[in-house]
Amino acid sequence: MNGLKFGRYAMMCAIATAMASACCNVTEDGKWTKEELEIIESANPTVKVYTIADQADSLLLRSKSKDLGKAMLQSPEYAKLADAMIATVTSPEQDGVGIAGPQVGILRRIVAVQRLDKEGEPFEVYPNIRITEMRGQMQAGPEGCLSVPGRRGDVLRSRDITISYTSPSSLNDTTEVVQDFTAVIFQHETDHLDGTLYIDKAIE
Ligand code: ZN
Repeated sequence: MNGLKFGRYAMMCAIATAMASACCNVTEDGKWTKEELEIIESANPTVKVYTIADQADSLLLRSKSKDLGKAMLQSPEYAKLADAMIATVTSPEQDGVGIAGPQVGILRRIVAVQRLDKEGEPFEVYPNIRITEMRGQMQAGPEGCLSVPGRRGDVLRSRDITISYTSPSSLNDTTEVVQDFTAVIFQHETDHLDGTLYIDKAIE
């Protein structure tokens, strides 16, 4: 159980939620903005992490992210952004288990998540991600965030979810069931794409 190393969990109310399943077909063929390209080009190999300590960063962190179009997913900039997000979250200064586009100033639906449920616990990148279903009992567990330095709080999360995203290789919509603490990471990171921080949901 990956979750055990993250401390105590209180069993809370039983909720089985079928969330509205927003379709994630890649129909729009958006382009990178000038600001996005500047951030991606600046990767060396890490990029700056936006935090709530800065007012302008805080406003961006509260904004909603957009999908990535097909051309964007096939561009060298996408590969460079994916590499930069992984380099940043795994850097000794950050040492996190996940990072979302807005945390590096990119308002796109993209997250990098450490797959604690896979052998070798690799970091993987998921574009156009949505959580389409949450099942079972919500449980409280401690969370922190690279964008909220120096704080931790308990948040209620499902341990059994379905994610939907666009495969960067085939460009097909893909769904996958994710469980245990890795499911918590996906919920935390996907919240970022809607401008939500864990401190909005913390119960203590
Ligand atoms: Zn976070």
